[in-house]
Amino acid sequence: MEIIPSQLSKRFYRGNLHGHCVNSDGQLQPEEVIKKYKELGYDFTCLSDHLWIDYSFASSKITDTTQLNEPDFITIPSAEIHCYGKKYDNDGIWHFVANGLPLDFASADDQETAPQLVQRAKDAGAYVTLAHPEWYSLTFEEAMTVSHAHGVEVYNHSCYFESGRGSGIAVADYLLQENHRINLTATDDSHFRVPDAGGGWVMVAASELSANAIIDSLKAGKFYSSTGVDILQFEQHDRKILIECSPVSHLCLAGSGNLAVYTTGTNITKAEFNLDNFKSDWFRLTLIDDSGHFAWSNPVWL
Ligand SMILES: [Zn+2]
Ligand SMILES: [Zn+2]
Repeated sequence: MEIIPSQLSKRFYRGNLHGHCVNSDGQLQPEEVIKKYKELGYDFTCLSDHLWIDYSFASSKITDTTQLNEPDFITIPSAEIHCYGKKYDNDGIWHFVANGLPLDFASADDQETAPQLVQRAKDAGAYVTLAHPEWYSLTFEEAMTVSHAHGVEVYNHSCYFESGRGSGIAVADYLLQENHRINLTATDDSHFRVPDAGGGWVMVAASELSANAIIDSLKAGKFYSSTGVDILQFEQHDRKILIECSPVSHLCLAGSGNLAVYTTGTNITKAEFNLDNFKSDWFRLTLIDDSGHFAWSNPVWL
């Protein structure tokens, strides 16, 4: 059984789920952001400008770039949505990325709570992820209150550059240990203050390049995340796992607690794991190449 569709048989689309333009605190015009991602070889990007009541860095409206869509490059209406109540953030606000929002989705007011905001974005049809958990020290208790989100950013490229806090793996694993079926995303969060475009992306297997098809595949977990490694094939046959990938040095499957199995070498492009003695209800695949680039699969439930 294919855990994710094979890249040899199904079309994958490369996209950035999290980025900003001058409509919030980004440095470039929407057209310039789109040009940048097209030049980088992406198929889609999301101008997820901050949607919040503090207009010093946020907007009251969703950035609409749908008129700039082309047959081979699209944008998906998105926002980084905020509300009050976050510990360890200097403004006391939460950050969530919501992709596939209706253009009239309203900002939270000063009363809406984080669980309510996540639910409202989901009800509006969006794919909702916990943004940059490490960057603002998202606590386990906080993550548990918003575990109905679809995913966690396990890599945020601009947070990695600007504060050395780009990871979200620990928070994703906390939620998995508690049996929440959360997906993992890698994003740029590009503002163009630093060269933060093209560092973390998702590869989505979809029936076509349209906002609806991409959002449906994200919700179905038919994607993987990358900073430079490709997962070409990822299959499960009973307790046997087969992987084909671009050349890597390390592959590991991590499960509950500190459980992991791994293989290490040079230019590995195929690997096989047997999970007969793997006492976990779930596992997730991580690949690392010689240059320190990663790919992450979504968790697989056995
Ligand atoms: Zn943010
Ligand atoms: Zn952001």
